[in-house]
Amino acid sequence: MSLSTPIVVRRSRLDALCDAVVTVADRPSLSVESPFDATTLGTVPACNADDVREAFDRARTAQSEWADRPLGERLAVFERFHERVLDEQSSLLDVVQAETGKSRLDAHEEAVDVASTARYYATNARSFLASRQRTGAVPFVTRTTEHRRPVGVVGIISPWNYPLTLSISDAIPALLAGNAVVCKPDEGTPFTALRIRELLIESGLPADLFAVVTGRGDELGETVVEESDYICFTGSTEVGRTVAATAGRNLIDCSLELGGKNPMLVLADADVDAAAENAARACFANAGQLCISIERIYVDSDVREDFLDAFVKETQRLTLGAGYDFDYDVGTLASEAQLEKVQSHVEDAVEKGASVQTGGRRRDDVGPYAYEPTVLTGVTDEMLCADAETFGPVAAVYEVSGIADAVERANEGPYGLNASVWSGDTARAEQVAARIEAGTVNVNDGYAAAWGSVDAPMGGIGDSGIGRRHGEVGLTRFTESQTVATQRGRPLTRPSGVPPRLWTFLLNANERLANRLTAWRRSG
Ligand code: NAD
Repeated sequence: MSLSTPIVVRRSRLDALCDAVVTVADRPSLSVESPFDATTLGTVPACNADDVREAFDRARTAQSEWADRPLGERLAVFERFHERVLDEQSSLLDVVQAETGKSRLDAHEEAVDVASTARYYATNARSFLASRQRTGAVPFVTRTTEHRRPVGVVGIISPWNYPLTLSISDAIPALLAGNAVVCKPDEGTPFTALRIRELLIESGLPADLFAVVTGRGDELGETVVEESDYICFTGSTEVGRTVAATAGRNLIDCSLELGGKNPMLVLADADVDAAAENAARACFANAGQLCISIERIYVDSDVREDFLDAFVKETQRLTLGAGYDFDYDVGTLASEAQLEKVQSHVEDAVEKGASVQTGGRRRDDVGPYAYEPTVLTGVTDEMLCADAETFGPVAAVYEVSGIADAVERANEGPYGLNASVWSGDTARAEQVAARIEAGTVNVNDGYAAAWGSVDAPMGGIGDSGIGRRHGEVGLTRFTESQTVATQRGRPLTRPSGVPPRLWTFLLNANERLANRLTAWRRSG
């Protein structure tokens, strides 16, 4: 185990990152723990509501100058940022690992995701933000154009599980669209957001355009939402509802990326070994603390035994560890609360009759919050882990009889974030995908295919949230559309010399003519 603290996460370096958070020095401080060994990594200021308002005020001032800059200048910042993220990758991974306890491989996925998101939006922002000609009220007489304008200051409230990706990936399109951002990272993982802010500034972003406020979510969250012109929330369904209520009161738009209880379906004709190998990754990536990871696996009875054997073997092959190198597949859980939740789900399942096929133990020899990747069978409805999100390294394997049964079971429960379908016949799998109630469905993959398709929208339905990140909508959500309609010749209201009856007759005739033209075009 290589736990010697990397230079970038030494105390003085972390203290320096906090310099820009508050302008006054007398705020109480909040400790940040290293899950690798439960020691204090550093402290950050516990901001108060006034600090949040001040960050928004400064961001608002910076935003108007930024929005006036030619788009090319804004794009150039993110082209440089893409390179900075790759060049500084090693120090970034150190910070991410130090405050989450995740494996370096999992931290690396975050860094690559941020670089690819920056590249995608730097390449496509110009076309997404371009003004578009729309069909005018009267063709050739009314010239109608839709413009995109920034909403103002976007609030981002992010969780601890992917502190790098989820603090910056929504900020990239928001900033490119001409907005400023105020980010409130989770209290357990503030240093990653502060480090990425440093890289943004080094890439040429004006400092006040991306502010980080540190502190507890239940103390600052409401002010962040109150001050925002758009709020991006990623976290639990429970807190998401309160964020949505505040956003609703203020009539601001929001996206809520919430929890999941994601199913995998292994059909009778699936390549069982490939499905099992990928399932070990899809269930236990980031020690299962991934919103789109798989927690329920429905396997056709024809292949259930073979799949279970292979899945257990693949799970046992995963290496569990704590350290700043690429030696381990799975890191430790992020906190004591996470460990307690995972343990309680497994203990409850076992007490009520489930069987542990592998795992099921905390591993103090690895770290204070380490827990083995765990495969359960015999999980029934009255067990906690049957429908509540465990958000840890615990997956249940169920037997189903045929596709209809698998689809029905997959659609149980209030969530609809991600799903996975395995079949030797991809056309059949895509038909099954269409019957699954989830925002993303991966065919012959667990989660990475859909998440990595940055050009396609990503988000949940039901209790998994509203709104989408990624793709064109992932940027245009941070804009207001403005329609400008220029009337050539007379305005479209009734001229004073035309009697009302004649006017209504003319409008009706115009409407009928337009309808016939549409039908004629459709038939031709
Ligand atoms: P959480 O809701 O407790 O915390 C998330 C963020 O909200 C943190 O920054 C926290 O400080 C803040 N917060 C806490 N109380 C608040 C309040 N009253 N008002 C405003 N903000 C407040 O979530 P968590 O348990 O830390 O994160 C794990 C959850 O996040 C899981 O359910 C997981 O599935 C979900 N998640 C979803 C996605 C997605 O894209 N759908 C991604 C990652 C995590």
